[in-house]
Amino acid sequence: MNWRIAELDNRSIISCSDAHSLPNLGREATVFGGELTYDGLWNAIAYPMRHAELVSASQQKEILNQVPPDLIGVQDDKVVGTIEFYPEEGKYHYTGHRNCEVKLNSEEERAKGTTCPVCGKGLTVGVMSRVGEIANRTEEELGIIKQDLLIKSQKFVRPPYKMLVPLLQIIAEVFSSTPTSQKVLNEYKKLASNLGGEIKVLTKVDLVEIEKLSDKKIAEGIGKVRRGELRIDPGYDGVYGVVKIWNDVKSLEEKKEQTPQLGLFD
Ligand SMILES: [Zn+2]
Repeated sequence: MNWRIAELDNRSIISCSDAHSLPNLGREATVFGGELTYDGLWNAIAYPMRHAELVSASQQKEILNQVPPDLIGVQDDKVVGTIEFYPEEGKYHYTGHRNCEVKLNSEEERAKGTTCPVCGKGLTVGVMSRVGEIANRTEEELGIIKQDLLIKSQKFVRPPYKMLVPLLQIIAEVFSSTPTSQKVLNEYKKLASNLGGEIKVLTKVDLVEIEKLSDKKIAEGIGKVRRGELRIDPGYDGVYGVVKIWNDVKSLEEKKEQTPQLGLFD
């Protein structure tokens, strides 16, 4: 979403998890290159501005094929990339009207407007609508590709990002339970403490290792998250969005009622 806005081309994008509950702390993160000191972090965040002449929108095209080595190496003080969760889970991703069960994606909104076709009142405008309003380019124009877990732009020099689903959420879906149940927490602790932490389990650990220690279905779920094979039902007008690995409508309804702390934009 940020990549579509030219004004942000020479700004660093960092990602910080909402810290309203302990298990959510660190579920989104920024990977910094360089020194982990105050100056190192400062330099990393200021990097695009220090190199503004290289990454300004007007020069993006020229440097595409001749990216300076210090823009691709990780040794410099700069943001290397971010870890993100799916913004569709937020309560106001799409435009809609909860009581009338009306939900419009950006294209539908452009065609139909923001008046509720059921009750005639104004729809609650979502995040994507606002992004569309202030964007200078479409998603297609970014030339987004996915390499392993990294999501990159082929046309703009931007630090890539990874999209993840929290491990607790994956385990809960496998067990048809909630992320706060004891059974799910025990499995989470087993995986995270034996295999080097949640982010490593989600991004790097061999699926065979996960299956050996845990459960075949959990390994399968992590594989699906890594490949982006998910069913995403964006939130709207205060209704949480749902990101599911398997196509199970029943547990989808359960999740809506039982896990009210997953929004990213509330
Ligand atoms: Zn309505």
